[in-house]
Amino acid sequence: MSQDTPAFPAQQQEPPGSTAAMDPTPDHGEQSYRGSGRLEGRRALVTGGDSGIGRAVAIAFAREGADVAIGYLPEEQEDAEETARWVRDAGRQAVLLPGDLTDERTARELPGRASAELGGLDVLVNNAGFQFARRESFADVATDEIDRVLKTNLYALLWVTQSALEHLTEGASIINVSSIQAYQPSTSLLDYASTKAAINNLTVNLAAELGPQGIRVNAVAPGPIWTPLQPSTQPPEKIEKFGTDTPLGRAGQPAEVAPAFVFLASAAEASYVSGTVLGVTGGKPVF
Ligand code: NAD
Ligand code: MG
Repeated sequence: MSQDTPAFPAQQQEPPGSTAAMDPTPDHGEQSYRGSGRLEGRRALVTGGDSGIGRAVAIAFAREGADVAIGYLPEEQEDAEETARWVRDAGRQAVLLPGDLTDERTARELPGRASAELGGLDVLVNNAGFQFARRESFADVATDEIDRVLKTNLYALLWVTQSALEHLTEGASIINVSSIQAYQPSTSLLDYASTKAAINNLTVNLAAELGPQGIRVNAVAPGPIWTPLQPSTQPPEKIEKFGTDTPLGRAGQPAEVAPAFVFLASAAEASYVSGTVLGVTGGKPVF
């Protein structure tokens, strides 16, 4: 690609963003992901499963034989229904659970709702996340932004995980979503990056506590991935260069991240993998 050609057309949406408004449309593995029974009969809850990485995970999980409940914001109904359609196309059960996870009660009730509909819970993917990067400097960061970022990325994760533990049993897998920002933070994402570093810390710590119960806890740390989060929270000029600073020279697609989640969810393949962070970064270091 020549240096003058933008990686993506400049574009902007308002959070939480929608898939339909993105140019180009992201690849969630709709035409490419082939399952082989690696999650047969497992029951998974994917927060933020309507779009982006969460949608790719839901599609991959379903094609591997899992039933999938997805959490999302009520205004994302259209995206959620599209994900559900792909899950059902794979012959699996899809459960739609709208709700704002920055509300403690909503977050705490989510795993119980998923478990009731799916008949139990084996895999929790804490994927819902929020960032805001349309700001000049740290001095511009407003309290309502800090609240939204910390409550979505940390409080909700803690609330959801705590109540999920009432349902998860031996052999279960918890997968948190970290970020390259935990390792190479951007100044424009100061608050967000700090939540991802905290997620790494609590992933290994929770793995230590839950290990004796046979519950594994890991994280996936994506690099720049083409999802609605980006055009809805970054300035348009950053979108034009999105992902070009990676060793592979481009942004990743949600479909390229999902296999890491399948691996970590699999009780057979990842049976001795706990407390780790798996980078899917296009070559950026996760240490
Ligand atoms: P996305 O916008 O498609 O998904 C994020 C989802 O989080 C939304 O769809 C929404 O349903 C959910 N969410 C946000 N606020 C919520 C709230 N208050 N209540 C309930 N749900 C809420 O974007 P994505 O990039 O696929 O993001 C998924 C995860 O990946 C996030 O944790 C994000 O931080 C992480 N991540 C993304 C990138 C990237 O470049 N896209 C890089 C590293 C990490
Ligand atoms: Mg969404």
